[in-house]
Amino acid sequence: MPATPTLTTTHPVHPVPVHYCIEPLQLHAHLFSVTLTIAQPQVLQEVALPVWIPGSYLVREFSKNLQRLSAHQNGSTLPITQLSKHRWRIACDSEHALVLRYEVYALDASVRTAWLDAHRGFFNGTSLCLRAIGHEAREHSLHLSAPPNTSGWQLATALTPVAVDAAGFGTYQASNYDELVDSPVEMGVFWHGQFKVMGATHHVIVTCAAPSMDGERLLRDTQKIVTTAIRFWHGKGKPPMKAYWFFINAVNDGYGGLEHRASTALICNRRDLPRMGEPATSEGYVTLLGLICHEYFHTWNVKRLRPAEFASYDYDQENYTQLLWFFEGFTSYYDDLLLRRAGLIDDITYLKLLGKTAQQVLQAPGSRLQSVAQASFDAWVKYYRMDENTPNATISYYTKGALVALCLDLTLRQCSTHTLDDAMRMLYKRCRGGPMTEADVRHVVNTLAGHSLDSLMDAWVHGTAPLPLEALLGQHGVCVHPEVAQPAQRLGLRVGEGNGLHIKQVLRGGLAEQAGLQAGDEWLGITTGEQSWRVMRLDDVGFYAGNAPHCTALIARDGRLLQLPLQLQPPTQMPSANALPDAPTADTISLRITDPARASTWLAS
Ligand code: ZN
Repeated sequence: MPATPTLTTTHPVHPVPVHYCIEPLQLHAHLFSVTLTIAQPQVLQEVALPVWIPGSYLVREFSKNLQRLSAHQNGSTLPITQLSKHRWRIACDSEHALVLRYEVYALDASVRTAWLDAHRGFFNGTSLCLRAIGHEAREHSLHLSAPPNTSGWQLATALTPVAVDAAGFGTYQASNYDELVDSPVEMGVFWHGQFKVMGATHHVIVTCAAPSMDGERLLRDTQKIVTTAIRFWHGKGKPPMKAYWFFINAVNDGYGGLEHRASTALICNRRDLPRMGEPATSEGYVTLLGLICHEYFHTWNVKRLRPAEFASYDYDQENYTQLLWFFEGFTSYYDDLLLRRAGLIDDITYLKLLGKTAQQVLQAPGSRLQSVAQASFDAWVKYYRMDENTPNATISYYTKGALVALCLDLTLRQCSTHTLDDAMRMLYKRCRGGPMTEADVRHVVNTLAGHSLDSLMDAWVHGTAPLPLEALLGQHGVCVHPEVAQPAQRLGLRVGEGNGLHIKQVLRGGLAEQAGLQAGDEWLGITTGEQSWRVMRLDDVGFYAGNAPHCTALIARDGRLLQLPLQLQPPTQMPSANALPDAPTADTISLRITDPARASTWLAS
């Protein structure tokens, strides 16, 4: 049943070493007002705003939204020295509390920053909370007030309540700065449901959903995911957190999630939420359930088990690791597999999702250029800065990492009585749910296999050769079936349609590249034989070209018209998934069960 947040008054209120007072005062200007009080400042006290948020590997420069910073002590205003784009220093005395006041502009609908308007407020501490340098390990508290002239607003966060009202506004505490900024805050009028699994209360908050949302179903299905994940990691034992919060922001068009230790912020299409009176599971709802499962699995895999380089976050700069293939890729492997095990999708749907992942890797020329370990390290400048060259320059450590997990799971199942599940649990135990290295992964898989899998790990994680998907899946009763490629794959193109046919990406080694098409071109028409045709969609090319082996493409580029001879490869003779052809863009595959008994030992357990 939906319920209002459970609220308590159990802890002393003040004083704490670092205290923030956050007021959503100017809704139409999208400005949070923040007052930071440092009880015992240093004589030269520095403060800084993070340049990135853990879990999202891009320097985002949150300080660009900070304004009107002022410093006060004992009734006087103090001068501030700005040291860099995100760091300031205040000369003060250490006998009196130092008070800093500032505003933060908040109108980013993503899960990574902050939002404030007349309907909703949301923030991560990395956007709103200046870090009091030297005080990070001490207790932090946060007072959150409701905006003026609004009614019905509630507040929810995984932070520990100290003294809060029935709607959730009041004072919260965190044991240090890391916990503070790892606990996003949601406020507004929202739907709230909850359930308990193994003693841990799980809250589901949904903002801006349509009235047709079937909240009870969402709650039921989320509970199945939570139960399956806790069983995965702990068997019949308890999870590491007493409470957990899912914050789901429903929008017209959006998708994403960010993991935290005791909560996750998600963004989904409003139409992907389950609807009352519609028992069927839509494709969009499967996508949302996969996202919920992915972020929840991160509770163990990246928020507790985490790269040794993330043992202590450096908020001032990029934090490099080669291990995102493990933390994002293995989480991606399990996000869909656990949906299958939770009974939320069937084998066919699961294999469809897996086939899509495999196809994305096969169709990315960058898979021949970068290993997943390199792609992890380069995430800050490649995967998180996508452009027209991204598929040629890098490989997604999500999709290829998921396939490495699949290959490792199927290999362990083939050569031992163990599975990747056993490896994950053994790793969690070995590293005490904390920092780990690739050597730890190798140690557990080699131990479980009974012999060294190092050469396979070298090839799959640090190499660029295709993964042995066809052979391994075949051993487990699933065949990889090549299919006729769609025009985009056949030509090696990614296009935008609507208001004409626009070239977004040209894939390395494909027919479009050979013809000289480039990103930014508008494809106006084709000429085959004596006739010329206007094309508005990529489908029109095949429609008008028929079986012609080549055509002339009429292209508009920077105000000029170009005629480019283009080969049109017939949609046959698709290569197998195991042997990448010269043009990896041509692969289209589907996965089919050939031996149900064998397949079910992998898919169902
Ligand atoms: Zn993730």
